[in-house]
Amino acid sequence: MVADREIDVAVIGAGQAGLSAAYYLARRGLIPESGFVVLDANDGPGGAWRHRWDSLTLGSAHGIHDLPNFPLGTPDPREPASSVVSRYYGAYEAEFGLRVQRPVRVRKVSRPAGNRLRITTDSGVWLAKFVINATGTWDKPYWPAYPGQQDFRGIQLHTRDFRSAADFAGRRVLVVGGGTSALQFLLQLHEAGAQTAWSTRRPPEFTRRPFDAEWGRGVERAVSERTRAGLPPLSVVAATGLPLTAQYQKGIDDGVLTSRGPLVRLTPAGAVFEDGSTAAADVILWATGFRASLGHLASLHLREPGGGIRMDGPRVVRLPQLFLVGYGESASTLGATRAGRAAALAALAALQGWSTSSQ
Ligand code: FAD
Repeated sequence: MVADREIDVAVIGAGQAGLSAAYYLARRGLIPESGFVVLDANDGPGGAWRHRWDSLTLGSAHGIHDLPNFPLGTPDPREPASSVVSRYYGAYEAEFGLRVQRPVRVRKVSRPAGNRLRITTDSGVWLAKFVINATGTWDKPYWPAYPGQQDFRGIQLHTRDFRSAADFAGRRVLVVGGGTSALQFLLQLHEAGAQTAWSTRRPPEFTRRPFDAEWGRGVERAVSERTRAGLPPLSVVAATGLPLTAQYQKGIDDGVLTSRGPLVRLTPAGAVFEDGSTAAADVILWATGFRASLGHLASLHLREPGGGIRMDGPRVVRLPQLFLVGYGESASTLGATRAGRAAALAALAALQGWSTSSQ
């Protein structure tokens, strides 16, 4: 059995946010494995991107921001993002000697170890002065509940389970959800010969505004107002709308991207919409998004009465030894990179003030 290991900073998760934090910790002099540790549940590099379906590429709908000091370059837009990003993150870890420990799943973070946080994993315990949590959302798919859901006789799956549109050729597929994944699924399913229907809670809001830096900052402001108030974060699409690309315009013109409106209930054979109309379906694809994957932090009781975690930048107000990156306004590769830096610098500054009396 491995003895408990003491560490200054533990980074949980090696996606964009965790790698950015690790880079700044190392660059400012903390030694990998003795000063800080990066723990990641995956078998290899890539964060959540490692698990995305092959038709998700870095092209018009998806793109990632560079990790600090290591440009991604211009990968082949036809290569699956899962392999491009896994290779990129793996090269990053090697280049900066970040020594990610994997597969190591954190089961629980708690506070019984003096002033240190106790990190219990499937590979032993670490006791850390500061924790930078960067566990993303992939492990927490959101499935909404509708009456009749148990009675539906077809297949139900979530974005997380999607592999290839070709699996649904000739099937009637209802896609539920108003984000980019839903749009991409509808277009690909249509192309693959599925008969599609689309349900969204609100009419889809397409915008011609280019997604530039100013818009990005506006979105971050809107989401951070909520997390500062201790409310659950908004999804990025709820804050931005959907960019009206030529591909989406064609989908609208072809009738593929026309929402039937909100879903009211499911029946054994399909769905009933708010206007009383129905759609027969063999498959329901819940493209209903993800929530922050924070189950291992439950015993810290971080949630406010509003249901969210009150944040001050990347820092948790109730527990200043804990940072959440890739959370709320930083849940994009751009925001994750910035938040990783902010959390690392704040943890390093706080380490300076960590007196022996607080140990
Ligand atoms: P992740 O990449 O999810 O990494 C989290 C890591 O933590 C994983 O390696 C995981 O194994 C590990 N982990 C989780 N729990 C534990 C645990 N308990 N113990 C140890 N390790 C753990 N953003 C963009 O900027 N551009 C896009 O085009 C884009 N497309 C997206 C498409 C989809 C379908 C989705 C779902 C999201 C998309 N996003 C996009 C959002 C984007 O993926 C994220 O904001 C960003 O990449 C997440 O980085 P992260 O480091 O926060 O998390």
